[in-house]
Amino acid sequence: MANFPFIPLCVPPWDQTAALAAGAQYNQQNGFYADANTHLDEVWVWLPRRFKVASPQPVLVPDMLPSTTWEQNIRTIMGMPAWDRIRKHAYQAAGFRCEICGANAKLEAHELFQLINETATQKLSRIMALCPLCHKVHHLGIARRLGMLGSVKAHMLVVNRWTPAQMEQAIQHAYDVWEQRSEWNWSLDLSWLHDYGYVYV
Ligand SMILES: [Zn+2]
Repeated sequence: MANFPFIPLCVPPWDQTAALAAGAQYNQQNGFYADANTHLDEVWVWLPRRFKVASPQPVLVPDMLPSTTWEQNIRTIMGMPAWDRIRKHAYQAAGFRCEICGANAKLEAHELFQLINETATQKLSRIMALCPLCHKVHHLGIARRLGMLGSVKAHMLVVNRWTPAQMEQAIQHAYDVWEQRSEWNWSLDLSWLHDYGYVYV
């Protein structure tokens, strides 16, 4: 953490008073943050995932959805207006910062799916607010096509505190799993949308 003059916090509008009471700082330039004197335990709930680990362990592991699921997403099923509402809520809930690295960047919404091999079910877990670099770790093929692979890899190294060899191993593993899963047909479970009050047909 020594490299950071401050630790960014993901404080949603409805938590702002509680965060300040817990010792969070705020200024126009940094938004909400914790300085070196803040007890991180007090602001734990608002820490980006990168700062939640006490010991080095990966927080941004590459994975890719099987190619057989690529047309199955909320945008195509529910339409753009509903998707816009859902993704903007995710940005707000993350205090308009990347949930993983804390970057104050233009955010993208990532559909986090749990892939249950036993039943070949692709189950929506939630929507995450991610910066473009963290997001592309889950879409390495797209990163490559956009010429972003180098910067995405550099980001992965820093955020995970990995060696290049550890990173290449993780990427290879992600491709192996992806290849295997792409041979199956997956059914989609969007019950999360019901649980959170989003209506869909
Ligand atoms: Zn990020």
